[in-house]
Amino acid sequence: METVIADMKQGIDRDAIKTAGSILKDGGLVAFPTETVYGLGADALDEQAAKRIYAAKGRPSDNPLIVHIAKIEDLYKIAESVPLKARTLAERFWPGPLTMIFRKKECVPDGTTGGLGTVAVRMPKDDIALALIEAGGGFVAAPSANTSGRPSPTKAEHVVQDMNGKIEMIIDGGEVGIGVESTIIDMSEDIPMVLRPGYINEKMLREAIGEVMVDPALFSVESGVRPKAPGMKYRHYAPKADMIIVEGADNKVISFINEKIGEALTEGRKIGVIASDETTECYSKGVIRSMGSRKDELSISKKLYSVLREFDSLGVDTIYSEAFNTPAMGQAIMNRLVKAAGHQIINV
Ligand code: AMP
Ligand code: MG
Repeated sequence: METVIADMKQGIDRDAIKTAGSILKDGGLVAFPTETVYGLGADALDEQAAKRIYAAKGRPSDNPLIVHIAKIEDLYKIAESVPLKARTLAERFWPGPLTMIFRKKECVPDGTTGGLGTVAVRMPKDDIALALIEAGGGFVAAPSANTSGRPSPTKAEHVVQDMNGKIEMIIDGGEVGIGVESTIIDMSEDIPMVLRPGYINEKMLREAIGEVMVDPALFSVESGVRPKAPGMKYRHYAPKADMIIVEGADNKVISFINEKIGEALTEGRKIGVIASDETTECYSKGVIRSMGSRKDELSISKKLYSVLREFDSLGVDTIYSEAFNTPAMGQAIMNRLVKAAGHQIINV
């Protein structure tokens, strides 16, 4: 299959959006930018179309899809009941990087929800995404547009690497603004529970609706504790290199990593370092990449997945990463890094 690439870096191309909408209505797949990561879209109410997403990604079929909408009112067409707290969150954070889980209505097929009786819903904040969702009928199932097991795409080039020839169209809207997937909160129980951390953090949620819980599995180091979001149990990204996160005071982290680089050099091994703008100069040898400035958390979240993708192509043996427990997005960033490292963390 030939994949058409529609360039919308300079703005929305209405004709191409119309074509993309028809592709979705005909059961096809269109990758598109959102403010979090690129999504791989299909008509969420068409079971066969949703199935094609799983095939293109190689995604396990028990991992449900998020349904994207373009108008808050449309939530009521697919959610069985919308609690007051969910309305408050929708008014405060939609369009935006927040996904909410509800008991689903009959019209949402099992193929979209992985057989669950609940449905995850989000209204993204991106003009291209909103226009595409409307053109495609209003309900677009869209997981991240990467091959399962690879880092989520934050640029159209990443989508091309993974999806070229497998889907009908890729819309290029340039680099995304946030770079990690949406926060997921389950609104189907009495006390809402965060199932995946993201840009909208616990503090912002508590300020809006009071008490929220966090899925204990997110902090568990034991692999036996099952997360409530089926997708969170998968090690999203296993770098080809062994990856280790080094936590501690800056000077200790730097000297530990430099020591490891020294050892590796004498053994003829290649080391990668994930650093920050504040520390890159402190490492002498090895392949050093900065995630961005610690004073600008979005610069870090935005670069995270592209740095991980780059290391895969560089053929390093071991990656040492600094920790990024930044104030607002630290939980979201570390959740992805710790998974990529397969929970290997050293405290120095
Ligand atoms: P992705 O779209 O690739 O960011 O992944 C979607 C995430 O949402 C996965 O971790 C899913 O397990 C989770 N998810 C989607 N629908 C539900 C649901 N109904 N209940 C719990 N988790 C869900
Ligand atoms: Mg994903």
